Amino acid sequence: MRDFKETLKNCLREEPPFCSCACPFGLDVRDLISRLQRGSFNSAYRLFQNTVGFPAIVAQVCHRPCAAACIRKEKDEAVLLGKLEQAAVAYAANRRPNQYQLPAKGKKIAIIGAGPGGLACALRLTARKYEVVLYEKTNRIGGCLWDLLLPEQFLAEFELQLMYERYELKLNCEINDLATLTADAIYIATGPEGNRFGFCGAAGASRQDGIFLGGGEQPADAIATGLRMAGVIEAYLKTGLMRQPETRKTTRLVMDAAAIPFAPPAVTDGPLTRDQAVQEAGRCLKCQCDACLKHCDLMRYYGKSPGRIEEEVEVTIHPGTLDGNGTVATRLIASCNHCDVCKNVCPQGIDTGAFLLQSQRSMQEKGAMPWPFHDFWLRDLEFSNGADCALVRPAAPGERSSYFFFPGCRLGGSDPRYVTESYRYLLSVEPETAIFTGCCGAPALWAGDQALLQSTIEQIRRQWLDLGRPIAVFACVSCRNIFRQFLPEIESRMLYQVMEQHGFQPPVTAAETARLAVFDPCQSEDDPELHRAVRVLTEKAGCRIADEAELPLCCGWGGQVSIANPPYFAQVVRDRAARSELPYLTYCANCRDVFAGAGKPAYHLLDLLFALNRHTGREAAYRRAPTASESRQNRRLLKKTLLHEFFKEEAPMSENRLPLRLSPQTAEKLQRDLILLEDVEAVIRHCEASGEKALDESGLCFGHLQIGQMTFWVAYRPTADGFCLENAYCHRMSLGGE
Ligand code: SF4
Ligand code: SF4
Ligand code: SF4
Repeated sequence: MRDFKETLKNCLREEPPFCSCACPFGLDVRDLISRLQRGSFNSAYRLFQNTVGFPAIVAQVCHRPCAAACIRKEKDEAVLLGKLEQAAVAYAANRRPNQYQLPAKGKKIAIIGAGPGGLACALRLTARKYEVVLYEKTNRIGGCLWDLLLPEQFLAEFELQLMYERYELKLNCEINDLATLTADAIYIATGPEGNRFGFCGAAGASRQDGIFLGGGEQPADAIATGLRMAGVIEAYLKTGLMRQPETRKTTRLVMDAAAIPFAPPAVTDGPLTRDQAVQEAGRCLKCQCDACLKHCDLMRYYGKSPGRIEEEVEVTIHPGTLDGNGTVATRLIASCNHCDVCKNVCPQGIDTGAFLLQSQRSMQEKGAMPWPFHDFWLRDLEFSNGADCALVRPAAPGERSSYFFFPGCRLGGSDPRYVTESYRYLLSVEPETAIFTGCCGAPALWAGDQALLQSTIEQIRRQWLDLGRPIAVFACVSCRNIFRQFLPEIESRMLYQVMEQHGFQPPVTAAETARLAVFDPCQSEDDPELHRAVRVLTEKAGCRIADEAELPLCCGWGGQVSIANPPYFAQVVRDRAARSELPYLTYCANCRDVFAGAGKPAYHLLDLLFALNRHTGREAAYRRAPTASESRQNRRLLKKTLLHEFFKEEAPMSENRLPLRLSPQTAEKLQRDLILLEDVEAVIRHCEASGEKALDESGLCFGHLQIGQMTFWVAYRPTADGFCLENAYCHRMSLGGE
């Protein structure tokens, strides 16, 4: 966990934008722009005034290094910051400076030169109530500004900004020897051609105590230096130390210029009206690293950056450090889809998902993560790897296997034929292919259950060794990634790449699925070869692909967040489904079923390749997602079919189903609440056997049973041929005693 805090030091979120770094004053352009976008000219003016001292002058004479640095010019034209500054000055209702009632400091500063730099330094020091004497060799103040602006423009500004300050101005007073001055500090602001009194070097503290040098080729630079040196002089007066001013900020920010939307300025000549200023401010990107916030659903949903997430997770895992209630980010931790998008889009490779997974593990280890968040999925893992579903067989008894097909638990749960047809194909190209059904352990990983994950991985490793160390063939990217991470010794291929390499020719049925949008699963990000193979096979099937070059994204399934955070899950699914109006083509069974469950037409690639679910036109696209109970049934059926078709064996049936009827509405409710029919049946059996049930006057029976840590309640009616289920619900909690 400490590592992540360290890693966050590389985060670019707080890096200044390019323009601010180029600005002689380091103006906070993002803040200025935000105020202008709101049409708050007064507030924009106040920020500008506080930063540049003489806003009306700077807005006119600044040489605009910000424009040269502005990233927007890579796309069209730099943001017109100069005109925006002028608009802030022009439309501010109150331009008077603030008046500060501070005690006099009793220290005297001599400033040589009443040009813009000297006056800027005087402005800051007099505001802090130092005694300032300005020596000007000519008969007028303003220096180089006389060559650049009309006198009424800058003289009025000096008068305005210094209106509350007292200082002594000595015109026609040339200083030739610093020793003639009586002062606690001296600032030499004589301009590029002026007398430097034997000091050389850049603006800053000189080699002699109490003497400071101004500088700047451009008037804006001179003003910025004057303001900065006022701070350096004040520090000297307080501490006696001759420090140099801070160097100007640089930025590590990186922005993708290609992603900037085209938006040239509406007006380039003349001053901006108020509306034009607001519009122009809208062109600013307010450059800040936000790649993760933009792409990660979770960060967007909670409106939290990785830094903020780290803080909240810290007080959740170590309560007592701040607010101490230990639950601040529990749900947030359990809502990560583990899609790796944050890591992939971050220019610094910061992996917030890995941090959340680690946090989930910590919470789980200390028993602080609410168990209902993952209980259903952990039971599902147990079921997939139990006697009803799991099957490990070499192609021929006693033979060594060169390959093994690991379809994962979800593929057969969606449609058992996805697995049987794929296995049939694999045997046709490589007869020494074993079959290995079961769950890879992803639910344990996502639940942070290390012990269960380890035992699942160990079980897989033992069976792989028994098979003679064959190469794995995966149909699911998540399974492959789990193997890569925890069983790196197992070499692997993706089924679709094997098919493409062997020149698999799918039946051409383009008329039914003319155009499709490919939805690459999130965990395939690092596999362009897989993306290519999928597209080749899809086109061979006669489909045209509308490729939007999208980042592979999570359909919502990742992390199994649907119980931990239902509104978030629903939002992610909605967002994904809306990304294209076309039917989706996926090669992840979870993606297909999630989209089908949300009413989005979606094909699994295997639908096309084996002409499954396609007998009535676009039926596959609309094939509804199996319910949780149907998914279990499908997995049972898969084992039975594999044994029967490929090994000529009959599966011993462990099932003993209760004759139970239920309405489509009740079935929908069970699915919504992820209640399995077999759990409902267990409650009814228990109630009937024990008599522990209540009856109402209509004969409706009510009863409950705790299964694992969950308590299920049912309302059912005995019928002539079995039972009719009227309602069911569950507490994702256990009851403490009857
Ligand atoms: S787009 Fe805006 S924030 Fe970014 S560099 Fe340009 S002016 Fe600065
Ligand atoms: S893994 Fe995915 S959901 Fe989790 S923080 Fe990263 S981008 Fe967000
Ligand atoms: S993408 Fe996010 S985590 Fe990465 S540097 Fe940018 S703000 Fe920081």
